[in-house]
Amino acid sequence: MISDLLREEIKGFKNYEVNDIECKYKMDANETPFRLPERTMEALSEIIAAANVNRYPDPISRKLKRKLSEYLGVSEENIMIGNGGDELIHLIMLSFVNKNDGVVYPLPSFAMYKVYSQIAGAKQIEVSLNEDYSYDVDKFSDAIDKYNPKVIILCTPNNPTGNVMKREDIIKILQLKKGIVVVDEAYYEFDGETVVDLINKYENLIVLRTMSKAFSLAGIRVGYLAANPEIIKCLNLVKAPYNVNSVSQALALNVLESEVFKDRIEYIINERQYLYEGLKGINGIKLYPSRANFILAKFQDADYVYKSLIERGILVRNFSNSPGLCGTLRITVGTREANNYLIKCLKEVLA
Ligand SMILES: *Cc1c(COP(=O)(O)O)cnc(C)c1O
Repeated sequence: MISDLLREEIKGFKNYEVNDIECKYKMDANETPFRLPERTMEALSEIIAAANVNRYPDPISRKLKRKLSEYLGVSEENIMIGNGGDELIHLIMLSFVNKNDGVVYPLPSFAMYKVYSQIAGAKQIEVSLNEDYSYDVDKFSDAIDKYNPKVIILCTPNNPTGNVMKREDIIKILQLKKGIVVVDEAYYEFDGETVVDLINKYENLIVLRTMSKAFSLAGIRVGYLAANPEIIKCLNLVKAPYNVNSVSQALALNVLESEVFKDRIEYIINERQYLYEGLKGINGIKLYPSRANFILAKFQDADYVYKSLIERGILVRNFSNSPGLCGTLRITVGTREANNYLIKCLKEVLA
């Protein structure tokens, strides 16, 4: 059997399930509801023509890096661009993790930590969050002391729970000086707290970001990280030379130059509050406060609520059968129209 030839680590693997249900209101994947800025739309053919796609792309995404260095307030040598943040998580595992090395990450959290650490053959050390999903920094410190991991991932705001890890707690983990500490700030723009200013103080810190969430570019696959140049050198050893295509580089650059995102991000933050208030009044929902562009909600019968919402044209993310997330659905904050419709439907479903 061909499948007998698979690497041991991959046997028994299931593909990451991507939902292909079509709904009018897509509130399942933490994208923003906004399309590309008008100015970008109008310049599309120019942007693509200038990308010279008959040639290979710039392997180090120089122009995009320059722009990101302004955005982040760090120098270009501190930045690396990836084909989505996901590729960068993969590259971190590929560069630093041997078979049976420890990788520490929170549970529940972003599914790709488990996937890529498993592909690397790591010993997976899942540290549970508290009952209210807050971080217990002592529990992380104990696990790090005990297992001496190569990589530690902290996600703040955490996906799918929306809570943050306090800066002082992140610093506590950095000061243990054990392994590479990845702080995943995929939802930074909706929260405003960052530790990117610490990358030169702590040589083991990686701050991970993405253009997929706040910047409306999930489909073009651009993520980036900021870290000490020594870390970037290590990651470059395993990176494919042309990992980010030239159209994606050019679009990401154009979007970062756009003025519209400040208002769009503010809009989503405001809608997060509106949605939270609207849902709070409904019987049968337990809500978790969120600093990201989604809200986690717990129900008696989450599968029933999930299906009932699909019947009404709303897709949310069903986590009711995931470890540590029993009974929960994750709702991505939408436009005012979508949020109002969701609130109305949930009132019906739970009446
Ligand atoms: C979305 C997300 C990412 C990266 O997504 P890409 O689309 O691959 O850039 C990374 N971490 C978390 C927690 C996310 O939610």
